[in-house]
Amino acid sequence: MSTSSIQAVANALDASARVCVLTGAGVSAESGVATFRDPDGLWARFSPYELASMDGFLANPERVRDWYNYRRAIINSVEPNAGHAALATLERMFGENFTLVTQNVDRLHQRAGSVRVLEVHGSIHDNRCNNCDHVRSDDELVCPNCSSAMRPNVVWFGEDLPQDVFAAAEGAARTCDVMLVVGTSADVWPAAGLPMTAKMAGAQIVEINPNHTSLTQHVHYVLAGTSAVILPQIIEAMT
Ligand code: NAD
Ligand code: ZN
Repeated sequence: MSTSSIQAVANALDASARVCVLTGAGVSAESGVATFRDPDGLWARFSPYELASMDGFLANPERVRDWYNYRRAIINSVEPNAGHAALATLERMFGENFTLVTQNVDRLHQRAGSVRVLEVHGSIHDNRCNNCDHVRSDDELVCPNCSSAMRPNVVWFGEDLPQDVFAAAEGAARTCDVMLVVGTSADVWPAAGLPMTAKMAGAQIVEINPNHTSLTQHVHYVLAGTSAVILPQIIEAMT
């Protein structure tokens, strides 16, 4: 698929009633939050299985908590970028006909003003009880309800996504006219399946990513560039 024009994508958005956006770690890269799978990403430097799985947590909860605290500190020290801001603007244009599905756990979308956000992989800012699913935003290590260990409220390898949140994401994918797929390698399932769900239901799919992904050959429009550059240009070109 060759590179499309910004104007063609802006026209497709102008012509659509319902819009869904799927974002991944790439959207936050220009804020200074490392992605996972890029050559300089987190998984090139750290062992994913030790840090983001239940086995890794049970083997060494302190190491896992330290790593999440390290990432929280980075996230708290950065700002949302122009790409996050453009998606908040797009939501204001479409109102309740807009859904933002994010795989990110950093809450930068909300800090930029997005409201309708489905966090399909949870949030790094909260902890959850391993046993009774009680969620807290403090750094309590033990659940006050059942005394089990608290853990980061994110989806780890081998774990299911929050069912109600993912069902809402699938609903938005099935009913949108245009889906923007931004800054995701589209390698992490089941979130990676949402663009194909949208396509099969008749939506036009737009990929915004500086790199080729496994999705690229299947989409209708490819904008090869970074989200903080491309997304504001799309908004600018809309009428
Ligand atoms: P990924 O690391 O697998 O892929 C990142 C993608 O972003 C790549 O395709 C890369 O080409 C693209 N990219 C890099 N810089 C970009 C930019 N400036 N603009 C647009 N695209 C850019 O990330 P993923 O697909 O989101 O992987 C999923 C998992 O990673 C999720 O589970 C998510 O929870 C987790 N994650 C989240 C964060 C965060 O919250 N900020 C950070 C790292 C990983
Ligand atoms: Zn509990």
